Amino acid sequence: MQKRSHTQPSTDSDIRLTPAVKFECICCGTCCSRVDLLVTVTGPDIVLLASGLRLGAKDMLKVLDFYVLGKDKAIPAGLKRTSAVKTEAGMSYVALKKTTDGKCIFLENNLCSIYPLRPVSCRSFPFFFSTRDGDLTWGLSGMSHICPGIGRGPPPELQSLAVLAQNAVESHSLYAEFAHEWNSSVHSPTAERLISAILSDFRFRTYALAESIDGKY
Ligand code: SF4
Ligand code: SF4
Repeated sequence: MQKRSHTQPSTDSDIRLTPAVKFECICCGTCCSRVDLLVTVTGPDIVLLASGLRLGAKDMLKVLDFYVLGKDKAIPAGLKRTSAVKTEAGMSYVALKKTTDGKCIFLENNLCSIYPLRPVSCRSFPFFFSTRDGDLTWGLSGMSHICPGIGRGPPPELQSLAVLAQNAVESHSLYAEFAHEWNSSVHSPTAERLISAILSDFRFRTYALAESIDGKY
């Protein structure tokens, strides 16, 4: 289908900017189980999850957490690519809830129980994607050292990587746009109002629907 982003690569060479890295996910569940790795979500992720699990804003709060950084704390590297949003607790990063031992609540028997609905951060790991001078580029996540799949199998197929990169960049970019609007206009922000606003935002609904029809989710 026709993609909407100006970030769509015109050729494979747009993302051939870093040396090939071999990678094959061995489904070890490590990236889903680390206390120090937040599973951040974007607006389209939240819409897709709510629609797939048939949850409204209030019930979505049962599967999401809101991480607030102390005023004097620097933003950890992994959070720099996502947007913080205002809630009653302060500027928050929205992520999937974890159990007390750091496991994602959707990890069951070491497998993802919401695999078709998993957030873009899960689809992307152990890579990250961004744009440089208008072209898609990619690299290894700062937490890639925990992934035993690196160095196994063949290098990722470039066209698949380009599609994943485009989805990740567009998802983050739509969320950043929304976060800017929300943060600059909301009075009395609460987590529930935030999720309601995300669930009714036409940009996220259109994007999530297009991606699910496209078969990527
Ligand atoms: S840590 Fe790497 S190999 Fe293990 S599940 Fe995550 S992506 Fe796959
Ligand atoms: S949503 Fe699935 S893939 Fe992502 S961290 Fe949770 S269990 Fe792992």
